[in-house]
Amino acid sequence: MNCESPDPTADALSDDILTGMHEWRLQHPDASLTEIEQALDERWYRLRARMLQDLALEREAANWQAKVVDRPTCPDCGRTLIRRGRQPRQLKTHGGHALTLTRSYGYCPTCKKGLFPPG
Ligand SMILES: [Zn+2]
Repeated sequence: MNCESPDPTADALSDDILTGMHEWRLQHPDASLTEIEQALDERWYRLRARMLQDLALEREAANWQAKVVDRPTCPDCGRTLIRRGRQPRQLKTHGGHALTLTRSYGYCPTCKKGLFPPG
């Protein structure tokens, strides 16, 4: 197989997990099954956080590009939010990995408050 993968997540999967685990195994020839599992989990969670971030940002970009009627709305009054730039938002994934998403921040002119659109 000699095809370039256009998917960075697929590259990360192969680099972080497959190659990474192979190298780890060579460096830890006496590792127990539990230790191997922990090392694998560690890589898997890291990749998972990265995928989650990519997918969330993809969806978010699609939301804001949509027609006005489909744009994020205020959960309280339903008015279309005004986009107010981007701000980092700290999240935690399962497995306890910190995830920072730079999300578009919306402002509701009716409620006079800013919020991150849900999702
Ligand atoms: Zn509102």
